[in-house]
Amino acid sequence: MVFNSSFPPIHYQPSDTFSAVFFNGNIPKERINKPALIDGVTNEQYTYGQLLTKITSLAAYLHSIGVKRGDVIAIYSPNHIQYPVVIYAAVKLGAVVTTANPNYLASEFAYQLQDSGAKFIFSHDSVLQNALEAGSQAKIPKSKVFVFGSKKVGSHLSIDDMVGLGASKVQSLPVVKYTPRQLKEDTAYLCYSSGTTGRSKGVMTTHDNLVSNIHQLYAFEKMDEKDTTIGVLPFYHIYALNIYLHFGLWRGTTIVVQSKFDLVAFLGMIETYKVTILFIVPPIAIGMAKHPIVSKYNLSSVKFAMSGAAPLGNEVSEEFTKRLGIPIKQGYGMTETSPVTHSNPMDKIVTGSIGVLAPSVQAKLVDPDGNELGYDQEGELCVRGPNIMKGYLNNEKATKETIINGWLHTGDVARVNKDGYFFIVDRIKELIKYKGLQVVPAELESYLLGHPAIADAAVIPRPDANAGEIPKAYVVLKPGAKATELEIQQYIESKTSYHKWLRGGVEFINEIPKSAAGKILRRILRDMDKKNLAKA
Ligand code: AMP
Repeated sequence: MVFNSSFPPIHYQPSDTFSAVFFNGNIPKERINKPALIDGVTNEQYTYGQLLTKITSLAAYLHSIGVKRGDVIAIYSPNHIQYPVVIYAAVKLGAVVTTANPNYLASEFAYQLQDSGAKFIFSHDSVLQNALEAGSQAKIPKSKVFVFGSKKVGSHLSIDDMVGLGASKVQSLPVVKYTPRQLKEDTAYLCYSSGTTGRSKGVMTTHDNLVSNIHQLYAFEKMDEKDTTIGVLPFYHIYALNIYLHFGLWRGTTIVVQSKFDLVAFLGMIETYKVTILFIVPPIAIGMAKHPIVSKYNLSSVKFAMSGAAPLGNEVSEEFTKRLGIPIKQGYGMTETSPVTHSNPMDKIVTGSIGVLAPSVQAKLVDPDGNELGYDQEGELCVRGPNIMKGYLNNEKATKETIINGWLHTGDVARVNKDGYFFIVDRIKELIKYKGLQVVPAELESYLLGHPAIADAAVIPRPDANAGEIPKAYVVLKPGAKATELEIQQYIESKTSYHKWLRGGVEFINEIPKSAAGKILRRILRDMDKKNLAKA
């Protein structure tokens, strides 16, 4: 059966890009001098008025150097108060933004640059060398690599430099218009996700997807100018992009920016800036529920916390609320759903549940033969709605396998009770989530297969109390070849960023179990690992 949302459907102007929702026309007078973004460490602040001026000037500069509709701009930086300046300036020109994990090694970033067809890079100074190396692999000239901050680095202009240069060019800034059809078809973002299988792919998120999702979110979170959030989750991920930035700026909130999670600094920022809403992931919730240092901070300004991106254990939820007196609820979504499809309404939070369907989202649960299931039955969760991505960039095959007759197959197994609350019970897709970050088995397996001693390999998630899951490899060595667990772990560490490291270990076996069609039977390996863990 098809499950419908109990909220009334969303309504919005079909002429809105996500940036227009925030600033086209004008910013309400009372917001002009209100801080939009605060650097939680340096206390540097941009008011709404300043943010808008910077965006317009940067857009004018980018226009003067030839950035145009459809060009792809890559951002490679930790969270920074200038992050939204770049995004909104790019979108003002009709450009597309691809956001990359700043911990990526040059080779990982180069893959994304080449796959997305990026022409310009905005890099943080701290990762500039990687950006240049990746840029040279992707044939992006050095002159098209810019840096965050206020100071030129070598020949690379900073964002403040460009804002300064663009200020006199604002008069010649064109107004890029979108028809309702273009809003549904033009890609705004290319965030990378593996989806249910294979390597990471560029998720084509349209303006309409984003605008829909902020209106859908509003049904759950009535944020407004009185609210302050803390932008701690990585801005390169759609969760942070659409919730802190687009939703937050639309609603007139203040966003305190933390470039990298650190519990003590995070708690200090909540206290100093009287943060009212926390959008977090389970490892942060665990820290707040358990770490002794937490009791030293006054967190009384916080009204509630929402956790997403990975499952939040019931015990942690209960400890969190009992200790801090702050309600915590879960939401659910994917990069492919821009991101939120489910959340818990504030007036009825069900612990352990991802909540109810967002407005205008429909769901069904299907068994492996594609039969639709009913209440209290477990099946793959499929969702449909205006926030579902257009597809994967240059990958029609993966798009068709994921979106079937308009239904996006999530690769998660869920059940729903008669009150309309959904529970995630398993994940059938390959994806591993380390602290909410995607680790893609197919990528690690391709590196392992490139190792001279390895004949075959499979990577699976191993449950972990702090990280949620950690990657573990099963490896078949070539006849006569030798390699130790440590050598293989170090080999992967040399090829990938830290969240992909084989923290779950490497186990040597004689054969990787596969189906007749050659598909790795991951379930068998997961069960084997579970048994080994139980014995240990
Ligand atoms: P991403 O595209 O990186 O946001 O990853 C999406 C995936 O994260 C989903 O398909 C789920 O497997 C997982 N996920 C997100 N939120 C939750 C949640 N609240 N509970 C369980 N899994 C979640």
